[in-house]
Amino acid sequence: MFETKVCIVGAGPAGAAAALQLAQSGVECIVVDKAVFPRDKVCGDGLSGKVITALNRIDPAIASRLKAADFKVNSWGVTFVSPGRHSLDVGYRPDYNSGNESHKETPIGYVCKRMDFDNFLVEEIKRRSEIKLFEGVTIDKYELQEDGYLVSGSNGFQVKAQLLIVANGAHSAFTKEVANITMEPKHYVAGIRAYYKNVSGNNADNFIELHFLKNLLPGYFWIFPLPNGEANVGVGVLSEAVRKKKMNLKKSMLDIIENDPVFKERFKNAELTSSIEGYGLPLGSKQRVISGNRYMLVGDAAYLIDPFTGEGIGNGLYSGRIAALQAVEALKANDFSATQLAKYDAEVYRVMGPELKLSHRLQKLINYPWLFNTLMKISSRNKQLQELLSCMFYEVDLRKKLAKPSFYLKLLLNRN
Ligand SMILES: Cc1cc2nc3c(=O)[nH]c(=O)nc-3n(C[C@H](O)[C@H](O)[C@H](O)COP(=O)(O)OP(=O)(O)OC[C@H]3O[C@@H](n4cnc5c(N)ncnc54)[C@H](O)[C@@H]3O)c2cc1C
Repeated sequence: MFETKVCIVGAGPAGAAAALQLAQSGVECIVVDKAVFPRDKVCGDGLSGKVITALNRIDPAIASRLKAADFKVNSWGVTFVSPGRHSLDVGYRPDYNSGNESHKETPIGYVCKRMDFDNFLVEEIKRRSEIKLFEGVTIDKYELQEDGYLVSGSNGFQVKAQLLIVANGAHSAFTKEVANITMEPKHYVAGIRAYYKNVSGNNADNFIELHFLKNLLPGYFWIFPLPNGEANVGVGVLSEAVRKKKMNLKKSMLDIIENDPVFKERFKNAELTSSIEGYGLPLGSKQRVISGNRYMLVGDAAYLIDPFTGEGIGNGLYSGRIAALQAVEALKANDFSATQLAKYDAEVYRVMGPELKLSHRLQKLINYPWLFNTLMKISSRNKQLQELLSCMFYEVDLRKKLAKPSFYLKLLLNRN
């Protein structure tokens, strides 16, 4: 049996961020993952600016190594297409200008396969002597004892930890059984993903594309460009709607690719290069209690995915880092009580709460296609609104202004 101060279950982005931040703070930990890396994760593979911001805060050297890595494409923004086919390009940087070459030196968004990105993070873990990583071990038992958690897994693996950071993703049994957070279809998205080669008509600056097509509402169809002429293509729809409309997402996606007038042209020479895989997206559209006696939930295990964009990697990294900083505080105070760890919840929702709330409002807007169309039309002419949308992808602190009603008032007064 191993003994440690902190055990992290899951070495995806959230668990890796927690481990790397702990190492930076001089705290040793054990990380356990059921997979052996490199491993795939069903995802859109879109990394917004938050990813670099978070890695930079943990250790600027990690952010530099990611910037230099060649397994990703640089992306400068997002193209939103409304149900009425109004299209709006929003740069990740509020000052993005497609004609301005200087902006091209500092892209803050990337697209890269999770097989590569997650392995990059695991390689960062392996650089650190403070972190002991166990791969290929599935944790299936958590026992709260007086002096810590006894965690057991496959092949007789056991670790005793003063504190647990639960980072085992969207299907976390701990989240359901110990933290009592259950899946609610109106706060959950079902997503599928496939890889294609030779999709045409991509944006020259590798903007990722979100198409809010009428038949998919309140969900969307996406195309994200990858290196070597590949693209990540998928569909995500609120589980409530999937159930109500008895949708078959795989069929819906193939139908769009084969029959939609725009996409059948763009996929004319395209080739499916993978199987079509599905996975859940636990949304942060509702605040939950994400810590308790001797544990903190991070990333998807804490339901922190952006309800509008479906982005969860950035929030996974942010929450992992915040959990590590709180773990340091708890260790200093030798206090692992629910009351002490509630500071983690407070910090997560202080940092991410306003943005999650705004995204929830935008998500609801999708239920009113005419309003969405109007907003897209106004936005294409309104610099302020474009900036607002850029901020959504840029930096959490900048989004504070979005929570102010005066912003929306100004927006309506300056419609043109
Ligand atoms: C279809 C789809 C598209 C998406 N597109 C995007 C996107 O473009 N951009 C974006 O930012 N986000 C996207 N997301 C969300 C993103 O994938 C997640 O938010 C992100 O992976 C969360 O990271 P995590 O570390 O919390 O969990 P995960 O990445 O799921 O990592 C969890 C880890 O825990 C391990 N594990 C699980 N159970 C156990 C166990 N019992 N014992 C030991 N280890 C265990 C797993 O092997 C895994 O390595 C998408 C999600 C889906 C489903």
